[in-house]
Amino acid sequence: MARVEHLITIDTEFSSHLRDLGVTGRIGQEECGALKLAQICRAERVKATFFVDVYGPHAARNELLREIGLRIQDQGHDVELHTHPDGRYDRQRGTMAHYSLSEQVEILQEGKAIFAKWFGCEPIAHRAGDWGANRDVFSALRATNIPVDSSVFAGWPTCRVDIPGGPTNRPTLYEGILEIPPTVFYRRGFGLAYPYRLLSTDGQSMREVMDVIQRLKPRLPLLVSVFHSFSLLEWNARRTRYWVARHEVRKFEQFVQAIARDDEATSLTMREIYEQYRRDPASVLGGSDGVPHSSAVYLIPRALERARSAVRGALVRSLDSHHGLRPWTRSGFRPIPRPTASGVSPRNPERERGAGEEKGTTGSVRGAP
Ligand SMILES: [Zn+2]
Repeated sequence: MARVEHLITIDTEFSSHLRDLGVTGRIGQEECGALKLAQICRAERVKATFFVDVYGPHAARNELLREIGLRIQDQGHDVELHTHPDGRYDRQRGTMAHYSLSEQVEILQEGKAIFAKWFGCEPIAHRAGDWGANRDVFSALRATNIPVDSSVFAGWPTCRVDIPGGPTNRPTLYEGILEIPPTVFYRRGFGLAYPYRLLSTDGQSMREVMDVIQRLKPRLPLLVSVFHSFSLLEWNARRTRYWVARHEVRKFEQFVQAIARDDEATSLTMREIYEQYRRDPASVLGGSDGVPHSSAVYLIPRALERARSAVRGALVRSLDSHHGLRPWTRSGFRPIPRPTASGVSPRNPERERGAGEEKGTTGSVRGAP
């Protein structure tokens, strides 16, 4: 039997979403944010790891994030450190790779201190926001005693780490840090989608995700899926209107149920994987190299999903003009402008659903190319 361990990761952050929606996902009486994701997992006795961005500039929202993180911890899930340094340091430098090594050390030290104050423990794992890690990040993690990283997204443009041997899904010891990369697969995009995809139902059909898992299982004992605290929402281009993405809720529930009902599968947190690594390194570092390929046929359901969202987005836009709604910018909490000539990547570059950090900031709705 091919045993497999699932590590569900959820990047938890306000990002540039309306009010606190990026974390709470609160639409009317319904909450479809980080807590909803935690509850869906808990209902199936599946564990998840929440990478929490502690660098937000707003005290009230930080307090809310702390409370939500504590409730997630209480449910038996893991919380770890997520770095979006522009929220606290330089708004023009969005990712860790934009900072010097000494600055990165300072960012991680301060992040650890905030994290300990909020959650009463130290993080053992780190994920760079926007997948923007470089080699220095690993030196900075060593200097600050954070032994695990999960930032190396094979083939993603903002990821500045080259693991020897090329893109791989296999956990490795890199620069003295245990790198547990998000699991990726390759699907030709034909200019419509970025070819490297994260293992996630956020942006992929359930059928494609299960297909990739079945092919990975015999050769990769650890599968790391990626979601966001706002994975169950959709929004219009101006981010004035949000709604619950029912199909994403359904897919996430199915994904978690599939793990719970698979006799060959277990779910672990980053902390548990690290403990396992300390006991038996070979059991974590095993697995074959290589990124599996998926069929281009799966572009079709994705295209249909986009079309459906575009229609919904158009309807929402007309409602906006009818009700005279305006983008929410009162407190100055607005998306950071996209730098151009400097080559500095923006905090929230346009990304595709399921591919990168943020999605659809300039398209008609989330997921536009
Ligand atoms: Zn992030």
